[in-house]
Amino acid sequence: MPVTLLGASEIRSLAAGLDVTPTKKLGQNFVVDANTVRRIVQVARVSSGERVVEVGPGLGSLTLAILETGASVTAVEIDHRLAARLPATAAAHGVPADRLDVVDADALRVTELPGEPTVLVANLPYNVSVPVLLHFLEHFPALQRGVVMVQAEVGERLAAAPGSKTYGAPSVKAAWYGPWRLSGMVSRQVFWPVPNVDSVLVSFARDPEPRGTEAERLRTFQIVDAAFQQRRKMLRQAVSAVLGGSAAAASEILERAGVAPTARGEELGVEDFLRIARVA
Ligand code: SAM
Repeated sequence: MPVTLLGASEIRSLAAGLDVTPTKKLGQNFVVDANTVRRIVQVARVSSGERVVEVGPGLGSLTLAILETGASVTAVEIDHRLAARLPATAAAHGVPADRLDVVDADALRVTELPGEPTVLVANLPYNVSVPVLLHFLEHFPALQRGVVMVQAEVGERLAAAPGSKTYGAPSVKAAWYGPWRLSGMVSRQVFWPVPNVDSVLVSFARDPEPRGTEAERLRTFQIVDAAFQQRRKMLRQAVSAVLGGSAAAASEILERAGVAPTARGEELGVEDFLRIARVA
């Protein structure tokens, strides 16, 4: 039996049957357009036999599009009603039970996943999209690549290069793991309920080798946070609290790392921050 997708009216009646009224708190904007979920899966180049992790499967529209390719899915859903219902929806749409694992949990607290997924595909809840991405990249080194739908502003931040207006701490932290790029806009009309923000697809690919050790990552992220908390200030002031305790001590460290103490955080790439962390 081939896997079939969910239609807009079936999504609404599934929600009604579960007494689910989509909530903003959980970023519940469900995709009700089959072309959109198929497009996400195509951009992610999901293929048969792969194991995909999906954060927030909701009523299952994207889940079924991933399963349609022949891939397996580990789905992490915080809303118990939705997590409990997903296996029955999948079975009713032709999915063999051994190709879907549902984890009924907060994605931000998950540290183990069945099936060791190598691909992340998700329509992420808006309010926690960056923390979820960083959490998954940190905790699941087997994840090699992914495509996620996020609020346009967040996608632009994730893919931003140094010097651009949207470049910030999330851009540097995301870049720690590998390159990110914007992979297209998504109309707000494909969601139910229709959100009041635009969405984009963002893709990432993990670098083949880790950029540094775990201790270096933690130190780098600490310096990044300090640099962007006061992004208008020169680095020697912005990071003085985490580099030596004074602007003079910070200047010395920055110079040894080959970074101008008068530069601003928004001018530096992840490699510059890592060099600072290594000499600090
Ligand atoms: N994938 C579905 C779709 O495209 O129609 C739903 C996407 S909806 C934007 C986000 C989903 O994430 C919701 O099902 C919501 O309940 C779930 N969610 C919100 N916060 C979560 C968290 N911290 N951990 C896991 N799931 C979460």
